Amino acid sequence: CGIVGYVGDRDASGVILDGLSRLEYRGYDSAGIAVSSGDKLIVKKKQGRLKNLQDYIDKNPIEGHVAIGHTRWATHGKPSDENSHPHSNATESISVVHNGIIENYIEIKKELIEKGYEFLSDTDTEVLAHLLDLYLEEDFFATIQKVLKKVKGSYGLGILNTKYPDTVFCARKDSPLVIGLGKDENFIASDVPALLKYTKDVYFLENGEIGIVKKDSVEVYDIEKNEIKKEMVTIEWSL
Ligand code: GLU
Repeated sequence: CGIVGYVGDRDASGVILDGLSRLEYRGYDSAGIAVSSGDKLIVKKKQGRLKNLQDYIDKNPIEGHVAIGHTRWATHGKPSDENSHPHSNATESISVVHNGIIENYIEIKKELIEKGYEFLSDTDTEVLAHLLDLYLEEDFFATIQKVLKKVKGSYGLGILNTKYPDTVFCARKDSPLVIGLGKDENFIASDVPALLKYTKDVYFLENGEIGIVKKDSVEVYDIEKNEIKKEMVTIEWSL
């Protein structure tokens, strides 16, 4: 339901929790975060109010400057810690937050289970994490391309991969996603209010676009990896 991502010099989990709190008006049943910390991803998910996750992280801070977070409005699988996002591959080297619905997830899940993948949740989203693992190759953009060509449905996505510890990947189709442009820091979000405390300059991703977001660069491509020159929009309103 709500997505926030961050890459920069700040404490990433603080930015994510603050951003998600600005999206609370959308309603949600659980919240979670993945932080790139050293050579690992630290993933925490809690059913219920964002405050549950906030309290947990206050007591167990996660060091890191790159992160993605999510508030969930369950469509497939009941609200629970396990069904909360992010969803990850078995080694937790790849983590995904997702808004929307993967319509062909049942057949993909069947294929993945036949290949030996184990599912920890009842969500449609989890197929994305395991597909990214299945199609993993040297160039992670190529992996994302393959996954997005395989899935049907709607998505706003934020993705972390420990092989790219300085990057947040994002993509969208029929579910909104904005990239917030800062100085030595950049953001992603499903909606502008999550970003306004940090920046008013944004790129609105269009359907089919994929973003590679780093601290000092943002690149946007179409699904065939043609680079798209995005026009920066400056938001005129405040929180
Ligand atoms: N379909 C996904 C789920 O049920 C995402 C829901 C959302 O957009 O929050 O987990």
